[in-house]
Amino acid sequence: MKVLVLNCGSSSIKYQFIDTDSRIALAKGMVERIGMTSAVLTHSPHDREKIRIVGEILDHSIAIEYVIAVLLSPNHGVIKDRNEIQAVGHRVVHGGETFSGSVLITEQVMKALKDNIELAPLHNPPNIKGIQAAKNHLPNTPQVGVFDTAFHVKMPPQAYLYGIPYELYKKYKIRRYGFHGTSHRYVSERAAQILGKPMDQLKIITAHLGNGCSMAAVDHGRSVDTTMGFTPLEGLIMGTRSGDMDPSVILYIMAKEGLSLSEANTLLNKHSGLIGISGESSDMREIEEAVGEGNKKAKYAFDVFTYRVKKYVGAYTAAMGGLDALVFTGGIGENSIMVRHDVCLNMEFLGISFDDNANQKVQGECTISSPTSKVKVLRIPTNEELVIALDTEEIVREQLIVHAAASSN
Ligand code: ADP
Repeated sequence: MKVLVLNCGSSSIKYQFIDTDSRIALAKGMVERIGMTSAVLTHSPHDREKIRIVGEILDHSIAIEYVIAVLLSPNHGVIKDRNEIQAVGHRVVHGGETFSGSVLITEQVMKALKDNIELAPLHNPPNIKGIQAAKNHLPNTPQVGVFDTAFHVKMPPQAYLYGIPYELYKKYKIRRYGFHGTSHRYVSERAAQILGKPMDQLKIITAHLGNGCSMAAVDHGRSVDTTMGFTPLEGLIMGTRSGDMDPSVILYIMAKEGLSLSEANTLLNKHSGLIGISGESSDMREIEEAVGEGNKKAKYAFDVFTYRVKKYVGAYTAAMGGLDALVFTGGIGENSIMVRHDVCLNMEFLGISFDDNANQKVQGECTISSPTSKVKVLRIPTNEELVIALDTEEIVREQLIVHAAASSN
């Protein structure tokens, strides 16, 4: 099946056009600066040169029309007719407590998505706009929503409840939701395949370390805990986000600096984490370079980052009562030799015997623990778009079967 995968942000849309049979992305690209006169569309067909188009793209609907047009373009396109787009899979950030898996988008689902806007005011509205635009341009094509939160929905109450009055959970749905679920699901399933064991025999910790970072404890195929919480701010130190801290700190800073709610929100989400501590950069490559040059604050930022990952490895091993595999993924997890090394340093007591040599020469999916290591350490590049495409195909095929059965009755 050929599936258009869309990831709609407030001013950008990332897309991939994936053939699920071959698992190849026939084209991928991005529209940036939506809403501006100088919006940019970059488009890379799998077998030709990348192109860049600059134009006026004032909203998500026009952006998606551009994406369809470039997919159809005689020179740069990969299809001849828009009917070749057999389904559209949308990444949706927040499914709340409503969605524990991917769903065909119906009017009822759209209503539930709108009901969840309060939980993700920055992310869900552009996701909804993208769905509406895709429905307008491809009215006969099935649309599927794949949620960042869905994989974590079955966490037990001890992992998702906060230590605040229970009524507040009931009233405002304040609880841990967790994000990056598509990635945690994909790499944990790949880990089981690589280890040649069924998921229901494994205890896996997945570390998705990118600009946003989160870890998950995946016990017998189920996410039983994850570091991100009510919002993606909790847990690990990230490029610009603080991660865990004493909640009183923010009240104290607000009082001392006279910050408004929105300023405090910006401080924690945009000016904290790696950039906040180092004062240099939110980008791990630049932090590592600065560490190499002897920059003390960059070293603090790096150490706080790796220490926090290490701490959660210990916490989640305890939570699951053991560990079979630790998986690194995301831009940092896949590429940073230093981060993987420091996280796994002195972890023999936990059964991790790290292979420094293998860690230096990673390529594709690979093992970076020694052959005798009780806990396997794996590097698995994530592929969220492929998961979205495969989920979309599965749901659309199920619908076709339901329709066929209904019409034969
Ligand atoms: P996003 O979360 O936006 O998808 P990515 O998963 O691409 O982001 O991760 C971006 C992060 O990966 C940045 O901090 C970047 O510095 C880091 N990164 C990419 N390549 C390397 C590398 N070779 N060494 C260290 N960090 C890297």
